Amino acid sequence: MKKLLEEEQKRRGGRSTYEDALSRLDQAKEYLDISPEVVERLKHPKRVIIVSVPVRKDDGTLEVYQGYRVQHDDTRGPTKGGIRFHPAVNLDEVMSLAFWMTFKCAVVNIPFGGGKGGVQVNPKELSRMEIERLSRSYIDAIADFIGPDSDIPAPDVYTNETIMGWMADQYNIIRRSNVPAVITGKPTSLGGSEGRREATGRGGFYVAIELAKRLGLKPGESTVAIQGFGNAAYPFARLMSEEGYRVVAVSDSKGGIYSEKGLNVEDIKRYRDESKHLEAVYYDASVKDFVKETSHTHITNEELLELPVDLLVPAALENQITQENAHRVKAKNILELANGPVTSEADIILHERGIRVIPDILANAGGVVVSYFEWVQNRTGFYWTESEVNEKLAAIMKREASIVYQRAESLGISLRTAAYVVALERIGSAISSKGTAEYFRDGKN
Ligand code: NAD
Repeated sequence: MKKLLEEEQKRRGGRSTYEDALSRLDQAKEYLDISPEVVERLKHPKRVIIVSVPVRKDDGTLEVYQGYRVQHDDTRGPTKGGIRFHPAVNLDEVMSLAFWMTFKCAVVNIPFGGGKGGVQVNPKELSRMEIERLSRSYIDAIADFIGPDSDIPAPDVYTNETIMGWMADQYNIIRRSNVPAVITGKPTSLGGSEGRREATGRGGFYVAIELAKRLGLKPGESTVAIQGFGNAAYPFARLMSEEGYRVVAVSDSKGGIYSEKGLNVEDIKRYRDESKHLEAVYYDASVKDFVKETSHTHITNEELLELPVDLLVPAALENQITQENAHRVKAKNILELANGPVTSEADIILHERGIRVIPDILANAGGVVVSYFEWVQNRTGFYWTESEVNEKLAAIMKREASIVYQRAESLGISLRTAAYVVALERIGSAISSKGTAEYFRDGKN
C-alpha cells in the first residue's frame, strides 16, 4: 500500500483536485477495451469560462467577484451541473466537479454530460438583495453559454431554489421568452419538479437500502453519522431515521452533535429552521447549538468522521477524508453524499482497511436524476406528482446501484472503480460512435 500511496503522491506532485479526479479515469480504463482517444478526450474539459460578476452592494459600492462555468463533456447530451457560491470556489474545483458530473450522469444513464459553475464569494456576508443581484449578475455573465439544449445549471453548495428562481427569471429576461428548462432546482411555482428539493438525499437513501444487505446494514441496529445538515444531508438523515437506522451524529460548518442513542432528526431541523435569518437566505443557528436543549454531546467535524459507526456519510464538502485521517476512520462503510469527500490517497487506505466506499458519482446522483425529470417536465409542459417522481427515482437509483455492485463483484474491484467502469463504458461507447483512430484506420469500432 505504501508504494501505491507514494506513486499516487508523486504522480500528483501537489494538491490538484482535478488531477485527483483524473486518477479515477486511469484506474477505470484498465478494465475496459476502449480507445485511448476516449480517455484523452475526457481528460480535457470541453469549455472553461471565467467571468467577472459585478454586484452593487446595499451601501452603494460595487464589488466584483470571480465566477466560473466549466462544461466538461457533452457527448451524451447537454452539460448539466450545479452552481456553488463559496469563498473557496476556484477553477481547479469547478473543473473537478464538472468532470464528476460527466461520470455521474453516465453512471445513472441519463442523457446529459457534465458541467459545473461557481462564484468565489462568501454569501453569508451578503444581504438577501445582494444575493439576488449576485445571482442575476452571474447569469448575465454566462447567458450566452447556457441553454436547455447546451448547458443546464442547478443548485449546489450555498445556492438553493430561491436562487435558481432568480437565475431562471434573469435568463428569461435576457432571452425575452419563458425558458424554464434552462435551470433545474427551481421553486415548483416556477416550473420546479416535485421532489427535487430532497432528491439527492433520497437518491442516496435508495442506494443505501438497495445495498444494505450486501454491506451488512440492518435497520434497528446499524448506526449512521452524517457530516453536514444541508440539502443533501438532511433528507438522507430523515429517511434513514424513518427506516429505523440510528442516526447518531450530524453537523454543519460550525460543528456537530452526537448521541449514542440516536438523534431526533426532525427536532434538529425544526430548531434550525426556527432561527432562519431574516436578512439572508442562510441559517444563523448551528445544529451544534441544539446540544444546549438536550443531553447530546458536542463534537467537531473531525471527530464525527472518526466515529465507530456502520455507515459514515460525508455530505458537506470535498477532501474531508484524506491520508491524514483515513487511518483513524472507524466506520465500516462510507456513502459519499458530498462530491469528492474522499481523496484518492485516502481511498487506497480505506480499501486496504476493508472499508467500503459507495462513491459520490452513484450515491449523490439522485439530485441530477430529478433535475433530469424537471427538464423533461419543463420541455413537455406536463408535470408529475411527488410520488411519481420518487417512484421513478427509486427505480433508477436501485437499478444502477445493483449494476455497479455486480460489476465490482465480478471484477473484484472497489465500488468506486466499478462505478467509473460502468460510466466510462457508456461515455466511451458514445464517443467511439463518432469515430476513433481505430475506426478510421482499422475499421474497428
Ligand atoms: P448545502 O449548502 O445545503 O449544505 C452544505 C452543508 O455543509 C451545510 O450543512 C454546511 O453547514 C455544511 N458545511 C459547510 N462547510 C463545512 C465544513 N467546513 N465542515 C463541515 N460542514 C460544512 O449544500 P448541499 O447541496 O447539501 O451540498 C453538500 C454536498 O453535496 C456538496 O459536496 C455538493 O456538491 C453535494 N451535492 C449536492 C447536491 C444537491 O442537489 N444539493 C447534489 C449532488 C451533490
